Amino acid sequence: MFFKKISLLLLILNMSMTFLVGMKRQSNEIVFGLPNEGTNNCFMNASLQCLKNLKGFTEAVAIDVNNDLILKSLSNILQNSSENKGITNQHPFYGHVRKNLFGSTNLTQEDPMEFIEYLIGLCPDFEEQIKITTNSEKKCNKCSSTTQKNESDYILKCEIPEAEYNKSFCSLEDCISSFGNFETVNAKCEQCSKNKDVSCRKKFTLTKTSQHLIIAAKIYDNNLNKKKIDVLFPFTLSQDGELYHLSGCILHYGQSPKAGHYIAIIEKNNQWYLCNDEVITLLSNQEISAIAEHGSIRLEKDSNMTCTPYIWFYSKNNNEQNN
Ligand SMILES: [Zn+2]
Repeated sequence: MFFKKISLLLLILNMSMTFLVGMKRQSNEIVFGLPNEGTNNCFMNASLQCLKNLKGFTEAVAIDVNNDLILKSLSNILQNSSENKGITNQHPFYGHVRKNLFGSTNLTQEDPMEFIEYLIGLCPDFEEQIKITTNSEKKCNKCSSTTQKNESDYILKCEIPEAEYNKSFCSLEDCISSFGNFETVNAKCEQCSKNKDVSCRKKFTLTKTSQHLIIAAKIYDNNLNKKKIDVLFPFTLSQDGELYHLSGCILHYGQSPKAGHYIAIIEKNNQWYLCNDEVITLLSNQEISAIAEHGSIRLEKDSNMTCTPYIWFYSKNNNEQNN
């Protein structure tokens, strides 16, 4: 255990050194920063950077813009950020989202997963490009009856496999594989217990994917405490007989999804960028590989801000990204 900790420390130290080089290079006006001046906008900013990097997102928002006030203000952000016009942290979009999704305009930190699902739900023309279908199979532990149900979702939410709990690292592929494992849940049984929860075993199978595939690893336990495990990820993923390419990832620093700080890394025209609110930084091939191989990134040399991957954005054809 001691040696594991030492080797982890060395990895982090090594990463912080490689990363420092990147911090000095600024981006060349292809990716624009989004504002966060002490307003905890980072969960929205990191999500938006990854979403707007997906082919079809900006176009779909433009089509569905009349459906909703939030899409109207989002469309304004997307337009202004591509023209490099300043967007302030007072932009109506941030307030609209907080009020509609969280019921208050308090500047709290929130889970980007909720925000992403909410935005996609507002945008039917994009929803079709994201939607996944899962089959859930529930076996009652009391009467052994089995029920099947098809459900659709926008994000493939994967557990960290139990076998990996005692390790410092696991792979995203392992998390995806564990998606098909049975887990014990308390639920009502149509056969023997219609009104009261009984112990059941439930498993999900991914039956249909779309153009884009958003994957989240459940790096938080039921009490929203972060598990001490980093998820390593691949740049291409074979799923449903198709090859998916990584175009973005949201990383988190902190102990709970509703605290800390969120950043994003995105790929555009074969170049990776680190999006830390207003600050956009070019990443070298070495730096981006280090993030994928170590499952973490140290943001600044003198801080302890180590961000770990949480939500990944894969697409079927990475060579035809929108602008
Ligand atoms: Zn039963």
